[in-house]
Amino acid sequence: MTMEEMVAQLNKWAYEYYVLDNPSVSDVQYDALYDRLVLLEKQTGTVLPDSPTRRVGGETLKNFERHTHLKRLYSLDKAQSFGELEDWVEKVRRALGDVWFTVEIKYDGLTISVTYRDGVMTGAATRGNGVVGEDVTEQVKTIRTVPLTIPYKGVCELQGEGIMRLSVLDKYNRAHPDDPLKNARNAAAGAIRNLNPKVTAQRNLDVVFHSMGYNDNADIRSQSQLNDFFAQCGMVTNYVFRRVSTFEEIKRTIELIGSQRGSYDFLLDGVVIKVDDFALREQLGYTDKFPRWAIAYKFDAEQVTTKLCGVEWQVGRTGKLTPIGKLDPVELCGATIKRATLNNYGDIVRKRLKTDALVFVRRSNDVIPEVLGAAENGGNEIDKPDKCPACGCGLQEVGANLYCVNAEHCLPQIVARITHYCSKNACDVDGISEKTVKLLVDELGVHSVADLYTLSTDDLLKLEGFKQKKAQNVIDALNKSVHVSLAHYIYALGLDNVGAVTAKDLAARFGSVDELAKATAQQLVQIDGIGDVVADGIVQYFREPQNLEIIARLKAIGIDPKYENAVKQGAFAGKKVVLTGSLTKYTRSQAGALIEQNGGEVAATVSKSVNLVVSGADAGSKLDKARALGIQVIDEAQFEQMLCE
Ligand SMILES: [Zn+2]
Repeated sequence: MTMEEMVAQLNKWAYEYYVLDNPSVSDVQYDALYDRLVLLEKQTGTVLPDSPTRRVGGETLKNFERHTHLKRLYSLDKAQSFGELEDWVEKVRRALGDVWFTVEIKYDGLTISVTYRDGVMTGAATRGNGVVGEDVTEQVKTIRTVPLTIPYKGVCELQGEGIMRLSVLDKYNRAHPDDPLKNARNAAAGAIRNLNPKVTAQRNLDVVFHSMGYNDNADIRSQSQLNDFFAQCGMVTNYVFRRVSTFEEIKRTIELIGSQRGSYDFLLDGVVIKVDDFALREQLGYTDKFPRWAIAYKFDAEQVTTKLCGVEWQVGRTGKLTPIGKLDPVELCGATIKRATLNNYGDIVRKRLKTDALVFVRRSNDVIPEVLGAAENGGNEIDKPDKCPACGCGLQEVGANLYCVNAEHCLPQIVARITHYCSKNACDVDGISEKTVKLLVDELGVHSVADLYTLSTDDLLKLEGFKQKKAQNVIDALNKSVHVSLAHYIYALGLDNVGAVTAKDLAARFGSVDELAKATAQQLVQIDGIGDVVADGIVQYFREPQNLEIIARLKAIGIDPKYENAVKQGAFAGKKVVLTGSLTKYTRSQAGALIEQNGGEVAATVSKSVNLVVSGADAGSKLDKARALGIQVIDEAQFEQMLCE
């Protein structure tokens, strides 16, 4: 047997095993031939480009190189409902007449792009910002379902989703009981973005190919042909691939996928619908961030049932008690959920939640898991606490909520208030985390945010883990925080229901904390977005003597910011701007700060009064709303251009 024949045979067996899931030989037979190949390669010093020995994973890398994609990779616009999807289909029809659509599963993993030249895989990269990604060639080479060679001899970049099958995850976790992987999505992403390719190899990932970026192959003219091409290359193709022509057929396919999703051996987060014909795609073109010829349909947040084992009451900065449910651990949206919020005591009663009984738990992306309701009768009543679980003081019932009345001495309240004051969007005191606050309270008797400013480096040096430099940094950060802006300061004070946006509105309207303290509920409700509850909370806050005392002490230190209205010039002067999606070069707060520095105002939600929307990648409903209202939308490049003007 020649070396070429050995490699071809091993690759055929691997293809049968990994792609077709239909092995024709035993592992022993495979290993025997593999060992012969290794020996032969050693003797001859030759390793063919598609030799399976290239898949073991090379040396650990120091860092990821950057890879510029030959053609930009777009993210997809999203439809959250069949109504939105139907609108999209109609829009395509109006532009193109009757067309074919393809419907595929949207796998939930890490998108990668693989480059082939002259039939050989020459590189692989993560999506990154769509233009530049991280070079993960060595990692992706270890994935058996990515062919090292393909029959096509031109240049092409093919995109697929790197995934870990749920059965593989299960097997891995049974083999590593001490260090299990949390969920399949993170396991796949973590394996590909691991500097050690051997780790990638161990995780047994798959790549399911779905798109083509750059290509010089004029023979592939549609998604259907592309799908055939993937199969010819020996790649794994989408588990569901349908070519349909009506919205009804699209909907039926989505419903079918939705009804079966629980039985799939992989995670999915939706369905992708594309115009099949590539030439027609070009006619539709692109928006500044999405192709107009494709859309992702997202499934609703997932919901499961599990047992509610117990309830723990957490005390927040305003004294509010939040019930946290301890759950029988359950898989949800690819993560293991052990705790979920029950929101408040009113919800417990209304939803008839009981412990030792099954409950429905829901989680949508990024949102904390929530107990939705009881899934069966029976179980044990959840006692209504009659005193604060932290300090033992009495409780006050306000609407659906219970509050600890001991604002001054209840430890979790004190810690939460100080932590909030120091947080990024508040006074931004770098170096004071929640853990540090606990130390300050426990060891140094810090009681309120005003006490922070009495600390010296000598005090801090008494704390565990504090050396001169760290102590000095904290003192410096505190000194710096004296110059906080009014909006951040109001937010930092931690009034009930006053978020960063409301704080900004209050700052603009009243100009100083002294003026705000005098505001009546009637004046307050005239501000957009402030209702009776928020207004009453604000009025109440300034009636509490201990709050006024802290504000007076802070003022004595020099913290008494005034609203600066002076900078009303610059590119964004007089403009109300909404940021949506993620930008590549700026965080949202950085972009917001730039807009404000240039005379603009940042709003949280899109309404008629908004003048401009800056839209980054993966923008959601805000973008749709802006378009519906006819508000000007700009992308990151245009945003930067405005800054330069
Ligand atoms: Zn308490």
